[in-house]
Amino acid sequence: MHGTRRHHDRLLAAWLARADAPCPVCGYCLHGLRTARCPECATPLQLSLASSNLRKGPWTLAVVSFALALGFDGVVTVLLLVALALSPSPRLQPFGVVTAFGAMSAACLGGLLLLIHCAKAWVRVTPRAQWARAWAAFVLVGLGHAAFGIALWATLK
Ligand SMILES: [Zn+2]
Repeated sequence: MHGTRRHHDRLLAAWLARADAPCPVCGYCLHGLRTARCPECATPLQLSLASSNLRKGPWTLAVVSFALALGFDGVVTVLLLVALALSPSPRLQPFGVVTAFGAMSAACLGGLLLLIHCAKAWVRVTPRAQWARAWAAFVLVGLGHAAFGIALWATLK
């Protein structure tokens, strides 16, 4: 293990001898550094491979699209269930509304779980395709909720 670490430290030093790289934490120029620790902020450094396919932006947008909607629909479902339990008034017509919000919550949870299930396939496509999928999820969730809101409003008015 120590041998491997020393080997990695030597590779890092050899690379920094030629490369003009900033510290990933504080931005200090590490050119010529001979240790695996930033002299400015003391953060430990390591040499690694990266891929633009692993950028978190598109993934975050897709997850947040489903998670925000799930959070909203879930909270409304719970509030309606509490209101129904406290005041079972027929004026509320709550069962249809509670069921509808519960179904929307389940759909958003399904989308979120599907996204997590497909995480390995997600990083195999280009960042451009990832952004297209993420924006599609965002728009679909938004349009789905707009349609749901209009249908609910038309039913309850
Ligand atoms: Zn630093």
